[in-house]
Amino acid sequence: MKIDLSGKTALVTGSTAGIGNAIARGLAGAGADVIINGRGQAKVDAAVAAIAKAVPGGKVRGVAADVSTAAGCKALLAAVPEVDILVNNAGIFEPKDFFDIPDEDWDRFFDVNVMSGVRLSRGYMRGMLKRNWGRIVFISSESGLNIPTEMIHYGMTKTAQLAIARGLAQLTKGTAVTVNSVLPGPTMSEGVGAFVKDLAKQNGQSVDDAASSFVKQHRPTSLLQRLASTEEIANFVVYVCSKQASATNGAALRAEGGIVNTIA
Ligand code: NAD
Repeated sequence: MKIDLSGKTALVTGSTAGIGNAIARGLAGAGADVIINGRGQAKVDAAVAAIAKAVPGGKVRGVAADVSTAAGCKALLAAVPEVDILVNNAGIFEPKDFFDIPDEDWDRFFDVNVMSGVRLSRGYMRGMLKRNWGRIVFISSESGLNIPTEMIHYGMTKTAQLAIARGLAQLTKGTAVTVNSVLPGPTMSEGVGAFVKDLAKQNGQSVDDAASSFVKQHRPTSLLQRLASTEEIANFVVYVCSKQASATNGAALRAEGGIVNTIA
């Protein structure tokens, strides 16, 4: 199977680092015209340059916009009015005891992790339906199924994404547009890397040992028994965005190393 996305335009939110960056690189490698997004122009420019270098002939550009706000989404939609592929990846996470999570954090998590995808899907999906082709992917998490006790607010946003993706898929009936969510497990992104480095420092371990004991302690049902790489997640997402994935719609697709101990 050869994935060829040439002629398709793809926007990946939060793609200056982590999983989003790997997805953007994967989509560019498959021939798509890719739009990088992050909040700061300098990081967006650096990510565009890095992907252009890694993918010779790749078509990459960038738009700096904060997708957690209505104004940021509006600016992004004005700069890029149409896309064929939308990957709602931008997201934040932070372990915090439930009793210490203030209202502002609940609002912030909802704005970044949920409303970004709602607003951008509202902006882009009509065009996909009209052109009768499109892919929307929400990057949720296994934490949307196994709510982490140490970050219930994060779990709430990841479950909300599953509901939205399924509901939007129901609007695509009979068309060649698909909407799915992908549920990664713990993945060595920039965000998780910083967390693991702190853990290693605290425990006097190497980063690899800290990563592996984190999975064993906090995700004991993992069959993978290690953090995934961002590329492993990106490979799966690129497939979901491909023309070949045309029969997969309305699904919550797991790439979480078997942490979720159920068959379906
Ligand atoms: P990361 O922190 O490494 O990277 C996140 C990216 O999003 C950065 O480029 C950041 O600048 C950008 N971003 C954050 N807020 C933004 C905003 N308001 N507007 C625009 N860009 C913004 O994160 P990651 O670990 O790669 O996570 C990416 C997605 O994957 C998130 O939705 C996360 O919930 C999900 N996920 C991550 C893991 C994991 O273990 N890393 C596991 C499951 C799901």
